[in-house]
Amino acid sequence: MLTDKHRCENIFNDLDEIEQQLSKRKYANLFLDFDGTIAPIAPSPDKVKIPAETLGILEKMCEYKHVFVAIITGRSFSDIKKIIPIKGISFAANHGLEISGMKRGEFIPNVSQLVRTVKKISDDLNKVLLTVPGAWVENKSLTASVHYRTVPSSHIAELNRLVGEITVRYIEAGTIKLTRGKKVIEIWPNIAWHKGKAVRWMQKNIAKKRASNVYIGDDETDEDAFKVLNPALTVKVAQDVKVKTEAVYYVNNTTEVRFFLQWLLEKLAVLK
Ligand SMILES: [Mg+2]
Repeated sequence: MLTDKHRCENIFNDLDEIEQQLSKRKYANLFLDFDGTIAPIAPSPDKVKIPAETLGILEKMCEYKHVFVAIITGRSFSDIKKIIPIKGISFAANHGLEISGMKRGEFIPNVSQLVRTVKKISDDLNKVLLTVPGAWVENKSLTASVHYRTVPSSHIAELNRLVGEITVRYIEAGTIKLTRGKKVIEIWPNIAWHKGKAVRWMQKNIAKKRASNVYIGDDETDEDAFKVLNPALTVKVAQDVKVKTEAVYYVNNTTEVRFFLQWLLEKLAVLK
């Protein structure tokens, strides 16, 4: 059983139990974060590569008619579709704001206004952040990301100050909110939506019903999905096992995620 006594255990210690759980259902839903989960983190997002073996596993997984596979990512829809050009795979991009099969901005009151606001903020940030080496702004249409993975630590305070200066009036007006990921500040519409709600939407509308659910992620934003899905096969990718997480299991890195997916591919093959 996936109970409290297993709380955040190394997944490879419990494969027999997991196999037994999976065999109770005919269908499975596999939800995967992208950066830091199935693809190793790189100095900048455009340098991130998904290993060919992992892509191959996902391709085979998508051929199983009884398995639903989705990538749940902070990347934009157009970006992630190019990186994972697999037929039959679904996406929840922009941290779940843009989902395969969902009308763009279904949960955002005024999409065109938001797109204009995000563009204005991105343009203004691009101008002021010229003084911060390594910082760059990615306009993802419904959201924007300020990346600072390669910014020297001596410039982080300056970066935070400038982001605050440009965004404060939008935050005070209730238009946007800021969230933090790994070496990234996300500029978000001020709405109650997150990866967990995106996963719920997918379960209701496009995923398999009465299925086992598997979710693997490494980010703070994945915690919302863990919470929504538990008790399920939720897996945190984390080097530090003491990291606070809602996930039931952990793996250490993206290589171990691949080992687990390979194992899962074999086990799901016999579900039918
Ligand atoms: Mg991630």
